[in-house]
Amino acid sequence: MDIQKVGVVGAGTMGNGIAHVFARAGYSVILCDVEQKYLDRALDTIGKNLEREVAKTKIMADDKAAALKRIQPVTDRARLAECDFVVEAATEKFEIKAEIFRDLDRLTRPEIILASNTSSISITKLAAQTKRPEKVIGMHFFNPVPVMKLVEVIRGLATSQETYDTVRDLSVKLDKTPVEVNDAPGFVSNRVLMPLLNEAMYAVMESVATPEAVDEVFKLGMAHPMGPLTLADFIGLDVCLDIMRVLHTGLGDPKYRPCPLLVKMVDAGWLGRKSGRGFYRY
Ligand code: NAD
Repeated sequence: MDIQKVGVVGAGTMGNGIAHVFARAGYSVILCDVEQKYLDRALDTIGKNLEREVAKTKIMADDKAAALKRIQPVTDRARLAECDFVVEAATEKFEIKAEIFRDLDRLTRPEIILASNTSSISITKLAAQTKRPEKVIGMHFFNPVPVMKLVEVIRGLATSQETYDTVRDLSVKLDKTPVEVNDAPGFVSNRVLMPLLNEAMYAVMESVATPEAVDEVFKLGMAHPMGPLTLADFIGLDVCLDIMRVLHTGLGDPKYRPCPLLVKMVDAGWLGRKSGRGFYRY
């Protein structure tokens, strides 16, 4: 199918980046969120990020203007009926996403693919909300979307080969590198990354080392661009805890037990960079 117009549901951190890369690649984008203020903030961010690409001579000033012109912000979800492909990047709560998928199934043409950018929710379960489970797939971008090359393409139990091939090709057209993964808690990225961050938290809790020392070990010893505790603060400790709980519940193995220090910090409202305090102060 010829994809020209793409719907993006949710205009937060990931949604604005996803709209950015589709618009930059020449697609028309309908960007949908629940309130105008989120759309205004998203367009402001996209404008600034495109400007940065102009400054780095990755794109021309004309490309920036053209990309911005291709993005239509809407609060009326019914407008997504015009789209040839939709990617959902709304808040990471199953009930919110389930309602969106039921509605998208009703609103959009039956042949179009519905993708989710979820970090941890089962693609198979989201697909089961629709009458087209073979056309539901995970398209997991990484933050910041305009910069990070990877797209984890996640097959739900019912996802068809045709759907997978379309999303793989679409990722390449966005100048990304798709990697094929089957649906399982945390997919590959968070199944491997989050236990690493969780274990780093145990090391701090058990006074093996300070957060600074743990991070230094990973930066200097493993050539990680940032240490695991800096990264956890950047991702958000509440998000880390939610993902650990998905792994713990979904895989049932005690090795995925969230670190008690992480639970305590989230209870205290120490959520990392976004709240001004996590393993570090901001
Ligand atoms: P965010 O909180 O920045 O943005 C979520 C947006 O969704 C908000 O603007 C909110 O208003 C909107 N929203 C909520 N309900 C909606 C609805 N019913 N219809 C339309 N919009 C709605 O969150 P985010 O970090 O952008 O995460 C979005 C998704 O991307 C989540 O599934 C998350 O797991 C995933 N993800 C996040 C990251 C990351 O690093 N932040 C990385 C990969 C994937």
